[in-house]
Amino acid sequence: MTHVFHRHLHHTPPVAIAASGMTIRDAAGRDYLDASGGAAVSSLGHGHPDVIAAMHAQVDRLAYAHTSFFTTEVAEQLADELIGGAPEGMSHVYLVSGGSEAVESALKMARQYFVEIGQPQRTHFIARRQSYHGNTLGALAVGGNAWRREPFAPILVPATHVSPCYPYREQHEGESADQYGVRLAAELEAAILAQGADRVIAFVAETVGGATAGVLTPVPGYFKAVREVCDRHGVLLILDEVMCGMGRCGTLYACEQEGVVPDLVTVAKGLGGGYQPIGAVLAQRRIVEAMSQGSGFFQHGHTYLGHPVACAAALAVQRVIRRDGLLAKVRDDGEAFGAMLREALGDHPHVGDIRGRGFFWGVELVAERATKSPFAPGLKLHARIKNDAMARGLLCYPFGGTVDGRQGDHVLLAPPFIATRQD
Ligand code: PLP
Repeated sequence: MTHVFHRHLHHTPPVAIAASGMTIRDAAGRDYLDASGGAAVSSLGHGHPDVIAAMHAQVDRLAYAHTSFFTTEVAEQLADELIGGAPEGMSHVYLVSGGSEAVESALKMARQYFVEIGQPQRTHFIARRQSYHGNTLGALAVGGNAWRREPFAPILVPATHVSPCYPYREQHEGESADQYGVRLAAELEAAILAQGADRVIAFVAETVGGATAGVLTPVPGYFKAVREVCDRHGVLLILDEVMCGMGRCGTLYACEQEGVVPDLVTVAKGLGGGYQPIGAVLAQRRIVEAMSQGSGFFQHGHTYLGHPVACAAALAVQRVIRRDGLLAKVRDDGEAFGAMLREALGDHPHVGDIRGRGFFWGVELVAERATKSPFAPGLKLHARIKNDAMARGLLCYPFGGTVDGRQGDHVLLAPPFIATRQD
């Protein structure tokens, strides 16, 4: 009998005992090809010697120093590294322990910014349906997965949800990508006006949607139109790149490909590549300056902010990505990966859509292609796919269930950047 509180209380998963490169081994000696990097986490694969050496060196030098007393060289270097490749105007990095913490911190940073500049009446967030931003209460409130929110709904901060950018299901026939993007931005503007433009703190969105709708790539121009709407009403734009950032889409930040600069951007997962739990919020200079000229203090914090060993792991991961030219590799091989998926699965009667960017691909499954009708929820297709794949030695990341009243089954593929075409 296990004393670990596993997510699924009726099922204890296999025991992972070792991992190397693209493969994880369990206690029964089975090897699994890691085609999803866990949940889009392992950007460098497993057991990378440079990352392990950096972590060892950091533990030997300094394992922990609380941020109310000290900063550390490694946190300063990691922040420099992240800002060096960041969108224009980003000046500071708030280092936390994971994705939910990063989103939670960004929401509070945005709220405190408005308090500092004399707009405390801004209390409302707008986000998107079919999104995922984490499981802590603030992140859950902006998340668009109704099933996850439901039991906790009475204790969540108020947030309104607008349509995601989901061309496969929601772009009208005869509507161009441009027109679709403009329509979605108009919906956002209407939601802002319905709340009262001076009451909205921020619009929160994943640049490329991940775990709820199976990789949603935005149509060109969508985020530019969104940025204009936010600017018109003084609303901040928070882009959540916990899953799609840090090279996963072929650029360090996914928003580089959209030509927009967010006010705050969150990253995690691929930041530390799974070697340590770490996340971050990158903030625009004007936000930090407003707080600096106001209270001079961010009224938030966690014990493990900027943990030195986590920072050492993340710094090593990011340096390897840069040194080994892995962003270009992800772009090139990502195209090939998409083409392989389309060739292998494109004609399958139950594959509705294949979409993605870089090493971030989603396969949407449907009962019938013509009507795009989903499979019955009772089938628990995602669980069956996951178990079947594991039985065959493959790790992919399927999920499904009812999302805002709509059923969808998807399989997410997010291999480590070191994956070869042979893998
Ligand atoms: N935001 C996005 C876009 C995510 O995909 C996730 C996790 O899947 C999170 C936030 C939450 O991150 P974590 O699970 O590290 O708390």
